[in-house]
Amino acid sequence: MITKPKGTKDIYGKEGDSWLYVSNLLDNLMKKYNYNYIRTPIFESTELFHRGVGDNTDLVQKETYDFKDRGDRNITLRPEGTAGVVRSYIENKMYGNTEQPTKYYYNGTMYRYERPQAGRYREFSQFGFELIGSDDEISDAEMISIPYNFLKMLGLNGVTVKINTLGDKESRDNYRQTLIDYFKPHIEELCEDCKNRLEKNPLRVLDCKVDNELEIMKNAPRTIDYLNESSKERYEKVKEYLNILQVEFEETPSLVRGLDYYDHTVFELFATVASKDMAIGGGGRYNGLVELLGGPATPAVGYAAGMDRVMLALEEENITVGDSKAVDVFLMYVNEDEKKYATFLAQELRMNGFVVELEYLGRSLKSQFKQADRLESKFLMILNSEDLDNNQVKIKNNKTKEEELIDLDYIVYFLDENLEDEPCECGDDCDCDGEHGCGCNHE
Ligand code: AMP
Repeated sequence: MITKPKGTKDIYGKEGDSWLYVSNLLDNLMKKYNYNYIRTPIFESTELFHRGVGDNTDLVQKETYDFKDRGDRNITLRPEGTAGVVRSYIENKMYGNTEQPTKYYYNGTMYRYERPQAGRYREFSQFGFELIGSDDEISDAEMISIPYNFLKMLGLNGVTVKINTLGDKESRDNYRQTLIDYFKPHIEELCEDCKNRLEKNPLRVLDCKVDNELEIMKNAPRTIDYLNESSKERYEKVKEYLNILQVEFEETPSLVRGLDYYDHTVFELFATVASKDMAIGGGGRYNGLVELLGGPATPAVGYAAGMDRVMLALEEENITVGDSKAVDVFLMYVNEDEKKYATFLAQELRMNGFVVELEYLGRSLKSQFKQADRLESKFLMILNSEDLDNNQVKIKNNKTKEEELIDLDYIVYFLDENLEDEPCECGDDCDCDGEHGCGCNHE
């Protein structure tokens, strides 16, 4: 048997329904924020990630899937979404568009060669938002509020945001040097990776999972103490807007984020899952990245979350989404003429917006009734040649068990009249008539 590669996952059945539901909910929410959808290639030239994510990051040094294609080009499977979106922004000259800032969201697979464990895979899905072209603090705060609201809409509890600021380039450089000076006398205490990264990426040392219990970590200098006045003011403003948006946040001076491109605001979102905090995603401001990748200097802010984590969190918290049985009509038949009519009718009804199933296995009528029950079909249509010759069909309400003969011309009208509008999956009354992922704001 050929099995799936290590660190990958098959998503099917109920889980597949839940994924679609959450993706639809995201699409609807992003429309409210007037974000457009962007789809960039799953593979890009290797150089994009070296420059865009940073040569000195673990992501680029240890985790990317790199290969040469048959034309001898260096190719990398994307490990994250921002670099590709920014490349596309520059290549397609989106900075010249009249509609600014540019707001895009994506939702797709990413690849990292990591040690697989629960919620950590080698192929995984991230959704993310990028707002390019505004330096206003309101865009930082709004960027934080989108995933915050999204997780709450899904019914997750204990959604918290940890925020910090790295300050502008001057503050960040200042802090960088202070960190190098602080850790240098203790270099022997650090893990091998941190010894190597100290000069190149000292902020990353603070993020180290191996060294985080060391005493020197606890007393390390904090970004907040090395901010210049304008960076401090900016941070205060972001917090003010977060309060207006009623986002509960925790200031976390040790938060730095592993990627190279962040400045000013950095943040991470967590949800309480099985009584513990689960990291759902993170983001921040990246004012230098567009220029670094060859575009005009353009401020930007973004966020990325792991879809696999969101799904895991929902599962562990027993929050079911998108599993409503939705078959409206099951078409039953016995002979070839009836089957032909069923084939025609199924398409007609589907094009009229109904969810239709029909018999595919040539089972007996008795087995077809059982199948309709298994599918929890709301109505059954028993196609019978004699009735069809009279332009009629027998239709049975599978709940009340009432049966009636109706004219073929009347079927769509009958179903429209008799199928109740589904309550919205948010479990509350709202105006969306139960459309999946209506984006309504019920918690
Ligand atoms: P990052 O791009 O590293 O900031 O990651 C943002 C989010 O993506 C994380 O909080 C996770 O939810 C998710 N994520 C990152 N790496 C993986 C992975 N290997 N498997 C599943 N989810 C991941």
